[in-house]
Amino acid sequence: MKKKAIIQIEQEHALALTTYQTVPAVVVHKNLPDQQVDDVGAAASVLEEPGLGVAEQDMCELECVIVSEDDMELGEPIEEGELSHGWVTEKDIRVNAEGGDFDTKDHTDKESDSESEEEESLFQFLVGWNARHDITREAMKDLLGGLRVHNNPELPLDPRTLLRTNLVYSVEDRCGGSYVYLSLTKSLQSAVSKMYSVQIGCNTELHLQFNIDGLPVFNNSTQCIWPILCRVVKPFISPVCIVALYAGRRKPNNFNEFVRPFVDEMTLIQQNGVEISAGVTCRVTVHSFVCDAPARADVKRTRHVNYHQGCDKCTVEGTYTKERRMTFNDTKSARRCDGDFDLLLLPDEYRVHDSILRDLQVGMVSQFPLDYMHLTLLGLVRRMARDWQDGLLYSKAFPFHVRRATINALQAAVVNLAVKMPHEFQHQCRAVQECDSWKATEARQFLLYLGPVILKDILDKKMYEHFKLLSISIRCLCSEELIEVYVDSASSWLEQFVNEYIKYFGNKSVYSVHAHCHIADDARMFGVLDKHTRLFNK
Ligand SMILES: [Zn+2]
Repeated sequence: MKKKAIIQIEQEHALALTTYQTVPAVVVHKNLPDQQVDDVGAAASVLEEPGLGVAEQDMCELECVIVSEDDMELGEPIEEGELSHGWVTEKDIRVNAEGGDFDTKDHTDKESDSESEEEESLFQFLVGWNARHDITREAMKDLLGGLRVHNNPELPLDPRTLLRTNLVYSVEDRCGGSYVYLSLTKSLQSAVSKMYSVQIGCNTELHLQFNIDGLPVFNNSTQCIWPILCRVVKPFISPVCIVALYAGRRKPNNFNEFVRPFVDEMTLIQQNGVEISAGVTCRVTVHSFVCDAPARADVKRTRHVNYHQGCDKCTVEGTYTKERRMTFNDTKSARRCDGDFDLLLLPDEYRVHDSILRDLQVGMVSQFPLDYMHLTLLGLVRRMARDWQDGLLYSKAFPFHVRRATINALQAAVVNLAVKMPHEFQHQCRAVQECDSWKATEARQFLLYLGPVILKDILDKKMYEHFKLLSISIRCLCSEELIEVYVDSASSWLEQFVNEYIKYFGNKSVYSVHAHCHIADDARMFGVLDKHTRLFNK
């Protein structure tokens, strides 16, 4: 069995990493330079792997004490037998400091060179195969476990060890929480390196799409994370990569500070390009920022949607109802444009603070498309399904009352049809009474496929026609073929839908309803809706 030790020396610092039957012992110099982070990460990933069943005490028994050349005298050799590859000598460190890979074969194992090369090629093959086919971590872990059983005991159990995943990051206190900036350049290099079938040259211009949003970490906790995500959307679609990550009990208390490292690096990249690989520097353009409505207001530093000037696409004046709801009843208000946004900075207006994102020369209105996943699928479709059920409560106030029998029929129809759906649908849509917990894919399935069929004989004819306005419009805006022909029609159908919403559902034209009169404008600029949504479809 081959044992391996890796020693790297960088100026006065040293890193010692030894492996004993996949159980590593590692001593890391506290002031480790950045360029050695990758190696530390590989070791740390194994140390933290619970599947190995290695307790901390076990690590101590295997402790390797070499830290630097100066400390050599101080380090106590590990006793023979504890680590079968023995001690690492000063000579080994010098060899590695000159650029050679350290190998313990002089001390213990005497495997042949051909065996070593064979092992290395297996490592390289697995790393490349994993990148080429976008293998999940669980699948890779299963494969490594199987290969180890079948005469490859030198392979690690954890894919992070094989891939040398960096798990050591520079965490700083920022914006009221913990913050890690991973570097846009490195993230892009990593994402683009997986695009094997794409030819990338110096003339390639990469169009980048960013996503900024908050996510809860636990159900019963205020702990949340705010990542800045990025992907290339033109001339090809790359995997999504993380640029920065914030974690805290609340959202960042200063969004300018939150995005500042990203804006600084992006500004340089816009000027000088980004080196994707050796000798290949590409130009970069900001395609869009995809955020839900609250996050969009936070990063643009504008009013939120429950404010009178809450619409970020037009100048409609909201009305605060006695049900404590901000409603927007006008679909013809003047549209906002990027130039207006740069001028406005008034106390009672839409834009209230300055956002440093403007330094990137992006259109602060046009390049922030509405996110139809939140707006339509998780917002409006679930709201309508809920309102149909609430129709019982509002039956005297509104003419299009939905009866209990109607709701029961609707629920039965959804359940009956869901079990007959083709397997291409990832999630089968649950009953309407569970609409509050529908995933976006379920709501999409109901809006585009189930709803137009089952609602026809269940809903009042006018309500059904009203639903069809939304369903057909979104269907056209999600189709590469239909959008070219029907984008203008979809725009007018959606405007009609918003205007009729008040008639059928009462004065509930809140932002998530009103904003649908702007969705077609974004689709006209950026293409089908699935391309600029959090769904991040490939
Ligand atoms: Zn508006």
